[in-house]
Amino acid sequence: MEENVKTPDKSMDYDFFQKELLPRIKTASLINFMGGEPTLHPRFNDILSETLDNMQPFTFLGVFTNGLMSDKVLDLLLSLVGRGGSIEKQIQFSVLLNWQTMENTSEKNHARCREVAEAILEKNGYGLMFSLNLYSIQQDLATQCWEIDEIYQDLGLPPGQTYKIRVSPAFPIVGEENHITLPIKDYPKMGRMMIDLLKDFPQMCFRFDCSFPPCLMDDIKEEEYPLVERFIYHGSQSVPNINEWSKKDVYFGCADDSPMDIDPKGDCFNCFPFHDKKLGNIQDFKQVNELAIKKMHTEFLSHTFKAQPNEPCRSCPHYMVTCSSGCFAYNFR
Ligand code: SF4
Ligand code: SF4
Repeated sequence: MEENVKTPDKSMDYDFFQKELLPRIKTASLINFMGGEPTLHPRFNDILSETLDNMQPFTFLGVFTNGLMSDKVLDLLLSLVGRGGSIEKQIQFSVLLNWQTMENTSEKNHARCREVAEAILEKNGYGLMFSLNLYSIQQDLATQCWEIDEIYQDLGLPPGQTYKIRVSPAFPIVGEENHITLPIKDYPKMGRMMIDLLKDFPQMCFRFDCSFPPCLMDDIKEEEYPLVERFIYHGSQSVPNINEWSKKDVYFGCADDSPMDIDPKGDCFNCFPFHDKKLGNIQDFKQVNELAIKKMHTEFLSHTFKAQPNEPCRSCPHYMVTCSSGCFAYNFR
């Protein structure tokens, strides 16, 4: 992580942020700080504060973090989730906290991550959402969910109130062969684990930001169908009960209104798996929104739909009915 700060081209230059990026994102309705680990940027507090000061009301502002931030950053985040922070400015601010399995972190880092989570949730229960990377059917997802539920219960979550955990399948990154991915053939087993966890933790919901591959539900039993509504897809929609999939016009595939990724040099990409396909640079456009509308939807989608799906999608009954074959990045391997 430290490497990001020391490696100039992996960390956005502060002057570039102020002069080139900030004026172009004032009208964006959703802004997420992502990484690497964004809180390690030496000017992170300045960048986040200036972004907040320049946003329009009702913008969504998010910070994706591993929770290993300095106290200085934590203090700023606590002030932003509090009354006098983003709420006063009518900005919907949230921290997305990546919760690791113990095979990917140390006891010390895990404890710090928990401390950060509890501090933010204590200040504002809506100020933080846990995020889980779904990378293997061997991962200890049960312990991850148990730990998160324990934090909510310890903080006194009222009975009947639900909370969402953002889940992010480990998609391929086009051009990076060694990246760990969750193969689509394993989706039904992963879905099975998730259904069991929804039964164990009745206040828990799982939120997918973009696609929700219906094959996740291939191993579900009929009496479990009502649990499906505790899966959220495209960021905010509840997956309808399976009995309604054939009656309703449902599409769980890759969302074409996903946010655009901007790298430290201002180069823009549709989303993380497609970092080898640049759409343009923010300096070529007056506003980021303009670039997103002109380039992202048309160029990205025409590119991705040209690729033929691999198995198991090619012979899947959901393909092109409710699903466009999971994340498009699977088709470019
Ligand atoms: S098309 Fe592929 S990702 Fe979609 S449900 Fe079928 S197997 Fe799963
Ligand atoms: S290609 Fe689609 S499903 Fe994959 S990350 Fe991008 S928006 Fe999400």
